[in-house]
Amino acid sequence: MTVIDGKGLANEIKLDIKNEVKSLNSNNIFPKLAVIMVGNDSASRIYVNNKSKACEKVGIAFEEFIYDEDISQKMLIDKIKELNEDKSINGILLQCPIPKNLNLNEALSTIDPDKDVDGFNPVNVGRLCVGEDTFISCTPYGIMKMFEKYNIELCGKHTVVIGRSNIVGKPLIQCLLRKNATVTVCHSKTEDLEHYTREADVLISAIGKPMIVRENMVKRGVVVIDVGISRLEDGKIVGDVDFDNVSKKASFITPVPGGVGPMTIAMLLSNVVKATKKQFNI
Ligand code: NAD
Repeated sequence: MTVIDGKGLANEIKLDIKNEVKSLNSNNIFPKLAVIMVGNDSASRIYVNNKSKACEKVGIAFEEFIYDEDISQKMLIDKIKELNEDKSINGILLQCPIPKNLNLNEALSTIDPDKDVDGFNPVNVGRLCVGEDTFISCTPYGIMKMFEKYNIELCGKHTVVIGRSNIVGKPLIQCLLRKNATVTVCHSKTEDLEHYTREADVLISAIGKPMIVRENMVKRGVVVIDVGISRLEDGKIVGDVDFDNVSKKASFITPVPGGVGPMTIAMLLSNVVKATKKQFNI
């Protein structure tokens, strides 16, 4: 059994990005990410801080725009439009979730597709679906990099994805199809989840409920990718998967923390560099 070292792989990717940013800098190009955050959700605050630190480490400039919960839809859209026009900004990210009274889909659709480093604009989602070059949303992108790095074959394999969110499950399904995997999607309304998980050659769980995937739900040799992040009452961070027991049957498994999480941030940085190069026709 191999524990997939997401943290180590993310560090390798970040080192490459740092060198690429240096080379861009020597050509007077300075990649910059703008992050918009609405409200003061404590988890979002931590995520934004982590993104800021990660940018700093690789030399990507970072600017955050924080608004109170009572910001109007018009103000939010106007800000996005302003950032779209700002030539010094190469990537734009709207930290989710945003308050329910705001229209998220309209906001995401307003982000210039060429600056959409989260890959949430429907234009980029559509490009992913039809197999065009695009910005792939960072978590699925990071998972695909892990498969690549560990030479995990997907062609013809039965991959089971639990979770169908716009940010993880849905784009991941498209990435897996692009690699010719056979894809089954499970979600909260799936009856007899175990029936599907036991059939999986590759099982990817993105639910957000602690240790819901148990040893008796997987077959021997399965590849397990755990996207979930949950905090237990004692403060411990765990994934969707009962790691200690499922790892006894798995051929590959990601830990939480130290698996998918660090890869998500690394791929965001990669998307910022990609956006910058695109804008400079490099
Ligand atoms: P979400 O709440 O939008 O989606 C959860 C999905 O799980 C839904 O599609 C739902 O149908 C499904 N689900 C819920 N209960 C289920 C059950 N009992 N059985 C089967 N399916 C069930 O969440 P999300 O934004 O996709 O995030 C999922 C988890 O992944 C969360 O823990 C989140 O914190 C984590 N996450 C981690 C990263 C990372 O970088 N590691 C990135 C994004 C999300």
